[in-house]
Amino acid sequence: MSAATPPRGTVRLAADRCKGCELCIPACPPAVLSMSDQRNVQGFRVPALRTGCTGCGACLLVCPDFCFEVYRFEEGGNA
Ligand code: SF4
Ligand code: SF4
Repeated sequence: MSAATPPRGTVRLAADRCKGCELCIPACPPAVLSMSDQRNVQGFRVPALRTGCTGCGACLLVCPDFCFEVYRFEEGGNA
């Protein structure tokens, strides 16, 4: 069994609102966002999330199209 650090957060992306501007990519402190080859209904490439999101909310703040919902996980997970 590995002792990997449990995820601290995640994001949900409203991909169909994305304009592919890529502002969120450098804004993510742990650099877990990258542009994928996937295109949305408007034909724009959309970001993909790798593991390691901290739930910091930087992507939510920078995205001009309000694509992100950010979730932060509680430590201990008793809820
Ligand atoms: S919440 Fe923070 S760590 Fe997670 S994807 Fe957005 S900018 Fe990156
Ligand atoms: S900042 Fe928003 S609109 Fe721009 S690429 Fe990221 S998710 Fe898409």
